[in-house]
Amino acid sequence: MNEAQNPSEANHPNPGRISLVGIGPGSVEHMTLRARAAIAEADVVIGYVTYIKLVADLLEGKEIVRKGMTEELDRAVSALEQARLGKKVALISSGDAGVYGMAGPTYEVLFQAGWTPDDPVQLEIVPGASAINACASRVGAPLTHDFCSISLSDLLTPWPTIARRLDAAAAADFVVALYNPKSGRRTRQIVEAQRLFLRHRRPDTPVAVVKSAYRRRERIEFTTLDRMSECEIGMLSTVLIGNSNTVIQHGLMVTPRGYANKYDLSEGGETRAGERPGRSLSTGLLGWLEGLQADHAAGDSIEVLAARHRLPPDYIRATLSEALEDEPVEAATEEAA
Ligand code: SAH
Repeated sequence: MNEAQNPSEANHPNPGRISLVGIGPGSVEHMTLRARAAIAEADVVIGYVTYIKLVADLLEGKEIVRKGMTEELDRAVSALEQARLGKKVALISSGDAGVYGMAGPTYEVLFQAGWTPDDPVQLEIVPGASAINACASRVGAPLTHDFCSISLSDLLTPWPTIARRLDAAAAADFVVALYNPKSGRRTRQIVEAQRLFLRHRRPDTPVAVVKSAYRRRERIEFTTLDRMSECEIGMLSTVLIGNSNTVIQHGLMVTPRGYANKYDLSEGGETRAGERPGRSLSTGLLGWLEGLQADHAAGDSIEVLAARHRLPPDYIRATLSEALEDEPVEAATEEAA
């Protein structure tokens, strides 16, 4: 782009910048160097009072805009106005600005105002440790296998959408982090989440409730799925629900990575019969397909196979028909090196 031809650049020789700064869970030690630098470089710092306090040492001589929780769009609008005047604006979010944070609303406001990525006003998103990371690190290693997060806030999302995601995540055995689990006014959502989870998960599934991770009033409570809603849960809590393999041992919540599927951990780490180091499991895709073909050839119907593997019949059918057209399935060799 030829800079001289850009009218807004001509108006402002020093174009502004908006930095969306994720400051992590709430302790200075867990803020990134870039987060601190972006705040230090800013002319204007916008954010919720609690978070502004955390970076008080960096704020001398800056314009500070303290905003309440519900003024997100206003914050984004005023950030853009200030940046258009040539200022560097830091918008502070807790955790990561892109996780239930300001990044989305800011882009929406910018697009609305005709902003494009080659606008002289540049947008920077500074990543931070989200509550899910912070809370997990305080309780052990709960996220070592597939996980997802679901916000129980129905302020902007219809309940059926939230409920369907809870149901699907529970059924799919994800470890789940519940953000915004409960507030003064929203008390029933966590009860409904528990109800949906209990349809798929054992009542004794481990649950951790982490309040204010890495902050002054941090509190960690371990419980089980059937007792989850009796815990003290609030706006500053994240609820971590384990999967069917998660355990709580010595006060630590741990989700196995799957090594025990391949190695006999009690016998000095010997590889289990039928498994090979560096290769997919015997029940990985190709091994599983071979078994599926064999069972089908031996007379098991698509429906029987679908029920056995808890997969949709049309998926089983499509996979089988493709496998049958292909060359005989060979064990993967690309990982051998
Ligand atoms: N952008 C933030 C999330 C904002 S939504 C992030 O990435 O972490 C607000 C929710 O985040 C809270 O209701 C709570 O569920 C969770 N949360 C934020 N900070 C937390 C902390 N220090 N400890 C526990 N949960 C926290």
